[in-house]
Amino acid sequence: MTHILDATAAGDQDFLAPAARISGNGTAGLIPMTDLEHADRLRRMREGTLGSLHSWELVTAVDGPGVRMTIFLAGCGLRCQFCHNPDTFLMRDGEPVELEDLLKRIKRYRKTLNASGGGITISGGEAMMQPHFVAKLLEGAKELGVHTCIDTSGFLGRNVTDSMLENIDLVLLDVKAGIPELYKEVTTGELQPTLDFGDRLAAKGIETWIRFVLVPGLTDSVENVEAVASIVEKWPNVSRVEVLPFHQMGRDKWNRLGLEYKLADTEPPGRELIESAREIFRSHGLTVY
Ligand code: SF4
Repeated sequence: MTHILDATAAGDQDFLAPAARISGNGTAGLIPMTDLEHADRLRRMREGTLGSLHSWELVTAVDGPGVRMTIFLAGCGLRCQFCHNPDTFLMRDGEPVELEDLLKRIKRYRKTLNASGGGITISGGEAMMQPHFVAKLLEGAKELGVHTCIDTSGFLGRNVTDSMLENIDLVLLDVKAGIPELYKEVTTGELQPTLDFGDRLAAKGIETWIRFVLVPGLTDSVENVEAVASIVEKWPNVSRVEVLPFHQMGRDKWNRLGLEYKLADTEPPGRELIESAREIFRSHGLTVY
C-alpha cells in the first residue's frame, strides 16, 4: 500500500499511488513509555495495554475508505524482498506506547474519521505480531464507534481470534505470490497460513481487499498472477484487488540498515505490465484497482 510518500510510513501499503498525508509523524503526540523496566514492558505487552509502535499518521484515499488514522506497529516475521520499510522488522525498534494514549488520539480524530466514512487501519510491520494489543485496540475503537481495518500478510492469521474478527470491519490482505515456492522465495515464509486466514475471512463474510505487489522479474509471471487470481476468486468476501507497482523508495533504508537488498537493480513495472496483471484479475471476475 502506498500512501503518502513519507519516510516515516511503514508497511505493505507503501506501494499505492501517493494520496494525501494530513498529519502525523513518527509517534508524535504519544508519550513513549521508555522508562518501563524490561519485565514490566513484556508483561504489559502480553496483557495488551502496551504496544510497540513504529509510527502513525492520518491519510486519505489509502489504507481503506475515507480518512484513516493508520497505525504502524513494529515487528514482522517475514522478510519480503520488496519490503519498503525494513526499519519495521524488529519489534524492539518500536516505541512503547500505551493503549489508552493511542485510544485518546483516535477519539480526538473520531469525528473527522467518521464524517469521511473512514476509520483506523492497523498496519506494520505485521500487525499480528502484537495480537493482545491489537485485540484491545480494535475493541476500544469499536467502543468509540470507529470503523476498523487491519492490514496484514495473513502469515500470523492464527493469532487472530474469533472475537477479534468480530471487531474488524475490513481486512487488507496481502497475497504476495500464488505459487508456494515463489511465496517462500519472495517472503521467506509459507503461503498456506495466508490461504487459511483468507478462508476464515471468507467463511465469516468479512469484507476483504487483496493487495498484490507486482515486481518485474519476481512476481510478474502470468503463471503467478493467475495463481493469485485463482486463490482470490474463491473468496466471495473480496470486494477489490489492488495491484501495487513495485518501487524503489525503500532502497536507502535497506542500505542504511546494512541489509542485503536483492532488488537494487529492479525497475518499477511499466504501464503495460501493470495493466496486463490487472486484466488477469479482471478475467477472474474480480474488481481491480
Ligand atoms: S510483510 Fe513483508 S512487506 Fe510487510 S512489513 Fe513484513 S517484510 Fe515488509
